[in-house]
Amino acid sequence: MFSDCFSYTGQPMRVIFGQGLAPLAEEVRALGISRALVICSPDRRQLAQTVADTIGTAAAGVLAEAVMHVPADLVDRCEQQCRNLTCDGYIAVGGGSAIGLAKALALRSGAPIIAVPTTYAGSEMSSVWGITENRVKRTGRDRVVLPRTVIYDPNLTTDLPVNISVTSGMNAISHAMEGLYAPDRSPIVSLMAREGARALAAALPLLVNDLTDHGARSEALYGAWLCGAVLGATTMSLHHKLCHVLGGTFNLPHAHTHAIVLPHVLAFNAPFAPDMVSALTGVFGDGDPWTALWQLQQSLPMPLALADVGLRESDIPEVVHQATANPYHNPRPITGDDLHTLLVRAWAGHQPDPSTIHSYRVLSEESS
Ligand code: NAD
Repeated sequence: MFSDCFSYTGQPMRVIFGQGLAPLAEEVRALGISRALVICSPDRRQLAQTVADTIGTAAAGVLAEAVMHVPADLVDRCEQQCRNLTCDGYIAVGGGSAIGLAKALALRSGAPIIAVPTTYAGSEMSSVWGITENRVKRTGRDRVVLPRTVIYDPNLTTDLPVNISVTSGMNAISHAMEGLYAPDRSPIVSLMAREGARALAAALPLLVNDLTDHGARSEALYGAWLCGAVLGATTMSLHHKLCHVLGGTFNLPHAHTHAIVLPHVLAFNAPFAPDMVSALTGVFGDGDPWTALWQLQQSLPMPLALADVGLRESDIPEVVHQATANPYHNPRPITGDDLHTLLVRAWAGHQPDPSTIHSYRVLSEESS
């Protein structure tokens, strides 16, 4: 039984699942958009053009310029193009990069966003925006960037390469994990978090065997929706902070970084987050959730060490410095020594081991 007190605010958005692009034109009309700019990453132009064709004269054009971490100078250039095209709404097609660029533009213009996500990153369900300038990623929350409609079509995800499928699925699971110990968690969020993590953990191994497995693609996108909704409803903690620094300052690939860091933060926070541990027990396999997750990752095609995605060991002190510079919520108090140990293990790809963490040893000695 859940005995804590809580508050929960539902998000004013519409989710359409599994109906293809057929509902899109009506959604554009219902939002009063007369000139929609279709936004995507450069390699998704063809899909974006298909989306633009679906809405006919309501499309102002295709902007195929989204890149990871939303550079500020890109936003400036795209804002000018939006003015030239007199667009009054955005359709973001693709992953978090396309949705992130649409959010940055909406933050300035106030125009509505329709999201058509084709990865599992979950940005479509959140009012969180991020813009990177001078190697520092600023983030914030604003209702104006929350997509008004999200169209989930599993058929659009069958081309998603195996490594992005796996790592962006892990990125989604990280939202669920941190939602389970968030200060603003609630029973409905915890249900979504467990179910979202379960769906993704079940679907990812099936996708690795067959990327065109429609049932697994549907299950993964369903899990991504729930995990994204957790991100949208709660405050994230240490895991997101670390990945944010690693992505913003060291330009590490977003989803891969989340995937590698995830079991290490799970192990670090576990002694202070019993609700998270009990919700995730059994979800990734037998045993404690951080070891089970790490073992699941060993069986999937993904990098397992931060060293493999471009971090140098000599960068770790700067990551620790930035991740401890300002206070933020985390269930477990954070020390520089602990973070350093955690990051060295994640950098080397070692198994997460709470007993190697400095404050864990202090806690164990105090209790013995
Ligand atoms: P991404 O959007 O950069 O996509 C990775 C690559 O996959 C791109 O080249 C993209 O075009 C391609 N791709 C996308 N869908 C495809 C498909 N179905 N088939 C083939 N290729 C496809 O990666 P991502 O992991 O989705 O997003 C990462 C970005 O999103 C980061 O900048 C991150 O900060 C941001 N993000 C923001 C939030 C938020 O709430 N604000 C949440 C999660 C992620």
